[in-house]
Amino acid sequence: MIVAIDGPAGAGKSTVAAALARRLGFRYVDTGAMYRALTWLARERGVDPEDGPALAALAAASPVSFEADGSIEIAGIDVTDAIREAEIDRLAPVVARHPEVRAIMRERQRALGEEADSVIEGRDIGTVVAPQAEVKVFLVADERERARRRLADRPGVGAEEIAADLRARDEQDAVNTRRAADAVVLDTTTMSVDEVVDRIAALVEERRG
Ligand code: C5P
Repeated sequence: MIVAIDGPAGAGKSTVAAALARRLGFRYVDTGAMYRALTWLARERGVDPEDGPALAALAAASPVSFEADGSIEIAGIDVTDAIREAEIDRLAPVVARHPEVRAIMRERQRALGEEADSVIEGRDIGTVVAPQAEVKVFLVADERERARRRLADRPGVGAEEIAADLRARDEQDAVNTRRAADAVVLDTTTMSVDEVVDRIAALVEERRG
């Protein structure tokens, strides 16, 4: 079974998807982390974030791996913390815009989803990566709450900067952030993580009959 969780930055996807996967005993696939890791490696290797073919070549040569302990590796390097920097927040949408890059990432994401029951989190999971997903959820939250959550994750970055970054990212990611017609929309603004996880777990139970 695939549970697809899509939505914009700060809507609560990562926290909810990880907790849900733990509860269900499913694999957790964080597709944003895949784009972030590629962005990190491109910066490290001096690859231009505007150069789609070069980024696709880098992605093909250096698959991202999710380790059993929850860490994320690319090219044999643990990038779990490094990919959460504000600069990677800003560069990832530029890297993720290239169709050649998305094609490679989507193929990997589909393969991961086929290997095991999975909770896959991203922007285009319910529409493009896994339109056959049994459960689809689209998380939203109001802008102030999304900025507040992001601020808690990014110590050292100012509130104004975070709000501006979120707005810029919303604009850049809009083209690839799609709500499936059959997705259940959950507004997480005033919900706790447990409440959101309970709601999605109930949808999974319903689907299992
Ligand atoms: O979800 P997260 O904030 O970690 O994603 C980082 C970036 O990766 C997003 O801003 C977006 O540009 C890109 N992304 C994407 N498609 C996905 C997941 C993430 O384009 N399925």
